Amino acid sequence: MNVPLLDLKAQYRQIRGEVMAAIEAVCDEQGFILGPRVIELEQALARYVGTSHAVAVASGSDALLLALMALGVGPGDEVITVPFTFFATVGSITRLGAKPVFVDIRPETFNMDPSQIEKSLTAHTKAIIPVHLFGQCAEMEAIREMAKRRRVRVIEDACQAIGASRNGVQAGALGDLGCFSFFPSKNLGGFGDGGLVTTNDSRLSDTVAILRVHGSRVRYMHELVGMNSRLDALQAAILRVKLKYLDQWTEGRRRNAVQYERLFKDAKLLERLILPRTDAGNHHVYNQFTIRAQKRDELRAYLKDKGIGTEVYYPVPLHLQSCYQELGYRKGAFPVSERAAEEVLSLPIYAELPDDQLTYVVDTIAAFYNHH
Ligand SMILES: *Cc1c(COP(=O)(O)O)cnc(C)c1O
Repeated sequence: MNVPLLDLKAQYRQIRGEVMAAIEAVCDEQGFILGPRVIELEQALARYVGTSHAVAVASGSDALLLALMALGVGPGDEVITVPFTFFATVGSITRLGAKPVFVDIRPETFNMDPSQIEKSLTAHTKAIIPVHLFGQCAEMEAIREMAKRRRVRVIEDACQAIGASRNGVQAGALGDLGCFSFFPSKNLGGFGDGGLVTTNDSRLSDTVAILRVHGSRVRYMHELVGMNSRLDALQAAILRVKLKYLDQWTEGRRRNAVQYERLFKDAKLLERLILPRTDAGNHHVYNQFTIRAQKRDELRAYLKDKGIGTEVYYPVPLHLQSCYQELGYRKGAFPVSERAAEEVLSLPIYAELPDDQLTYVVDTIAAFYNHH
């Protein structure tokens, strides 16, 4: 049996006609950059997330970069974030000449440990970037409380968490600014790159909207030094179609997570691996179903041999990346993140994953541990 980590074709087959019609309509219009298609998507996404503003940009990485630029982050500033995340979270900080200050994660949720923040705050701290990793929100009440007390801003890296919520508030509406990605493997994926910044602050939204078009409101008049980070009308039209199905696809992921939990328990595998834990109040959208496994690398090779796709998100914490040697962090600085990097394994969880394939994944993992 062949079980890919993600099968985008299975999703595309359900909506092919609708997507093709949307693409054709944009081609007939011959309007490709921003325009009414992008505005319509922005409005729909602002409604979905529950913020008053949403600004579509070229990628999730740009969303983070533009959010930091809108807050005026630059050389001399510090931004607190986690080392156990995708590179872009931290890359956006260092690209602006600011300094990332890492705090460790919680072992149960892989998200920022708010109790580590206080000792990392300095007079130079401008912002905190919690990451809603794998599709569940970080502990935003504690993070916001701390940020408010010290007058620093909170940018949510919600790239993996569209549709997730915490105590009824959606990811992207929990901080000062929310950043999303429409990379194809995200829960709402385009046919290429795309991203979004959400906020309830009209000044910040206005600044991000200007920054994405070279800091210009009136053509050829530049108020700020921005960049080109526009979303294509084609991507907007495709994403508008897919947004209608997002909740249904998320429910499919959540059903698969429940199924995994039941089967792993029945197979008595809970001594060999730790299943994802959902924090109280969180609605998890399972962009990834990430377990911790004993003999992770051997297990992964065994599964590959049996036709099962898995991935390690992420194998090297960012404080140990070669490009960040000058930050001066050593191995052992963030033990929870370092241990996670050695133990995590993400399993297939996409909505259309057939039941027999999911069962095969669990059976194959059981067979591995029976032999080891
Ligand atoms: C995907 C992702 C990003 C970056 O998004 P791109 O659209 O690929 O630039 C940033 N942070 C996290 C946590 C992500 O998963």
